[in-house]
Amino acid sequence: MQTSPPDLTEHYWHALSCEAVADRLQADPHGLSAAEAQRRIGQYGRNQLAPPPRRGPLLRFLLQFHDVLLYVMLIAAVITALLGHWIDSGVLFAAAAINALIGFIQEGKAETALDAIRAMLSPHAQVLRDGFAIEIDAAELVPGDLVLLATGDRVPADLRLIDVKELRTDEAALTGESLPVEKNNTAVAIDAPLGDRFGMAYSGTLVVHGQARGLVVATGRHSELGRINQMLTDVRTLNTPLLRQINHFARILTMAIIAVSALTFILGTYWRGHAASDMFMMVVALVASAIPEGLPAIMTVTLALGVQRMARRHAIIRRLPAVEALGAVTVICSDKTGTLTRNEMTVQRVVCAHHVIDVGGIGYAPQGDLSIDGRHIVPAHYPALAMAVRVGVLCNDARLYEDEGAWQIVGDPTEAALLVLGAKAGFDQHAAALAWSRQDTLPFASQHRYMATWHRDADESSWLFVKGAPERILEMCASQLEHDGEKPLDVDYWRRMATDTAAQGLRLLALACRRAEPAAGHLLPEDASHGYTFLALVGIIDPPREEAIAAVRDCHRAGIRVKMITGDHAETARAIGAQLGIGMERPVVTGAEIALMDEAALRRTAMEVDVFARANPEHKLRLVQALQESGQVVAMTGDGVNDAPALKRADIGVAMGLKGTEAAKEAADMVLADDNFATIAAAVREGRAVYDNLKKFILFMLPTNGGEVLVIIAAILFELTLPLTPAQVLWVNMVTSGVLGLALAFEPAEPDLMRRRPRPPGEALLNGFFLWRVLLIAILMMTGALGLFLWELQRGTDLAVARTMAVNALVAAEMFYLVNSRSTFASVLNWQGLTGNRTILLAIAACIPLQLAYTYLPLFQTLFSSADLSLLDWLKVIAAGLLVFFGAELEKAFMRRTRFAAGTTAHEQG
Ligand code: ATP
Repeated sequence: MQTSPPDLTEHYWHALSCEAVADRLQADPHGLSAAEAQRRIGQYGRNQLAPPPRRGPLLRFLLQFHDVLLYVMLIAAVITALLGHWIDSGVLFAAAAINALIGFIQEGKAETALDAIRAMLSPHAQVLRDGFAIEIDAAELVPGDLVLLATGDRVPADLRLIDVKELRTDEAALTGESLPVEKNNTAVAIDAPLGDRFGMAYSGTLVVHGQARGLVVATGRHSELGRINQMLTDVRTLNTPLLRQINHFARILTMAIIAVSALTFILGTYWRGHAASDMFMMVVALVASAIPEGLPAIMTVTLALGVQRMARRHAIIRRLPAVEALGAVTVICSDKTGTLTRNEMTVQRVVCAHHVIDVGGIGYAPQGDLSIDGRHIVPAHYPALAMAVRVGVLCNDARLYEDEGAWQIVGDPTEAALLVLGAKAGFDQHAAALAWSRQDTLPFASQHRYMATWHRDADESSWLFVKGAPERILEMCASQLEHDGEKPLDVDYWRRMATDTAAQGLRLLALACRRAEPAAGHLLPEDASHGYTFLALVGIIDPPREEAIAAVRDCHRAGIRVKMITGDHAETARAIGAQLGIGMERPVVTGAEIALMDEAALRRTAMEVDVFARANPEHKLRLVQALQESGQVVAMTGDGVNDAPALKRADIGVAMGLKGTEAAKEAADMVLADDNFATIAAAVREGRAVYDNLKKFILFMLPTNGGEVLVIIAAILFELTLPLTPAQVLWVNMVTSGVLGLALAFEPAEPDLMRRRPRPPGEALLNGFFLWRVLLIAILMMTGALGLFLWELQRGTDLAVARTMAVNALVAAEMFYLVNSRSTFASVLNWQGLTGNRTILLAIAACIPLQLAYTYLPLFQTLFSSADLSLLDWLKVIAAGLLVFFGAELEKAFMRRTRFAAGTTAHEQG
């Protein structure tokens, strides 16, 4: 336990030797103790940057008025006031204010949803504490912590590097220099610029290659990144192509409305001879009823709710346009290990030169026998087997431990499987590591497909151990170990055995060793290239995830192709693919074959083939490009730093949250918190649902506004008594956009959503069908409201009563049409259809007292000139509403029957 905290006022860490830095930080070679780390966090604070300052609530509220639509309303309100129409002016102001308030609340909701997602993306760091390497939230790092860096990591704090192994970092975030910088652990001159401080790794920069250990010297706002005060991993603000399209549409609509209104004004005053001030009030009503003021706000909320729902299902959206793009995905390219499979590896078979050994047991519990042809064996009696198991245990960075009776692992599951094999064969990792001390390591990288370690045994003899993909290891070997010593390598035998084992869906590893000393005094890739003795092949089972099998089936039903791109052996990939239902009865293509193809051939292959084996990140990039050139919308998964280009290129880059590097996560549009393929399928479903809801909302909003407009235009054109006063129009509008429309954002996904074809990528939102539906409903609404009004007038009903009936008829029609809008084509004439969305029922229930108040309360009667209605009047109002309801259902039935919809919007029907 330290007594006084280390003095961190020194800013020249780069100029100090490693020892001096360790001394000043009171660091320990085994890392800090948990207690000391806790104490230091109290002392120096958490390793976090303050979030960028937010706009205050008042400013955010006022900014809601910064919108063409609201400007028009406010100007109209001012002119109305100048004309002395105080009530109308008041209603206009109130409508504008209510709109801004709704926008304000909804924006707040969307922001909260994004905040929660930002928190889910918080980075992690590997650190040595109490002698153990553990992963912690990067915010918990303190000065003096010993951090372990590996390829793909985002450097979590400013570090003085102690041990460096071919470390290169990308410091563009800090210095703007885009070429990676080679790092070492030497001190540099005190005045060296940031980019030349080779012994330092700075917070926020990216490890593009190699490994290192470094001492934390500065955290949070004291780091270089903190000083320039920039937040890195940020989820972008609410803006997507669709939202931009809609905003643009709303603006054009506003202009069109203003033009039509001006025309109406001119026609009304000069042609029909109405008083200019009356006409002006009419035009104001027209503008107010036509402008879709709720549109942008509801769009935003629908998207934010979608993002939130996806997060609940472990799909974290990093870029909002991904939500829309997900709904249009036509191909998902997925990794195999851990995404489609469980990543719980068990060695089932060891193949030596003359024996095939079966290994019993499943999972990480080290219980199970080794046997040959059903006979139990003692591994020590088989030299090649014994040596292979030793290599497997020592050329290994995983750890196996028992926690309350359950066996757990730390590290790579492939390596953990070898530890379990070792334990079953009687090899203890700890004891073996003491007897064969490790001198150096070449870590596994998926481009090279092997890992090598250098050891000294108890006699001080030097050994190189290697494990990796069989083809790679065979290239490095000249001999094989048999019962009676080393013999020349029988490549054909091993190839045959490898293909046999892989065909059963087992993942392959080969193990080899060599008695030698690395020439350079440390391990280099050259040392691992030749002169090894082949020991054994290991077959590891990694069963497919049950939920992935179901998800692949769902994707196929939804018209989405699933392609598996794996680093594994072609036969393993084929066998696992068959279990998952991917690439059945189609050939498997390997990375080597892809490398030989030109662009045209690759385009063909990319479309036809579903399983790609022994593929590396460059192949992934080429495949994405080839698929996109064939017009596909591609989602691609990845985890390594080299996957970043393919993830960026894909329409939806999907990174693994658990085993993915920070580099992959930052390149991705979406992060899978559980690394599970089924989560991608769930996200596609949500993406489709969001898009569907946006369309439903527009299909609700436009005809309801349109209905009100038609009522007024018809009245002006045919010189009828106005069925609605401007204030009344505004009332209807407030009820509609404020209360009713919002409910559609909460509409659950339709059951057949995943049985439809993907939406064509370039599909325009507002197509011919849309226009037809908008017109039809608007005309039905007008017919109901205006028809009722005129009929009542003819029967001699008082004007105030007739107008109150028209207002209520419009609102009733909108309530009913809201229920219609739950589905674009499917009927809602069933229990689920009528009651499936509780929010809609609540919204309708909220409107009823509002309409009763409007009709009966004296205050409202003064404000809006409304009048009491009788029971019979109400029945007529409801009948006008039902006209729209049944009209819409009839049209849907007609559409379904004639397949008109199938022709124009095929994906809607499935
Ligand atoms: P995915 O399917 O997600 O692409 P993968 O695990 O199949 O992943 P890689 O991780 O690139 O692909 O592995 C490719 C091959 O490298 C494996 O088939 C195996 O032979 C070998 N290999 C995997 N992990 C290790 C390791 N830790 N050490 C040595 N060799 C390994």
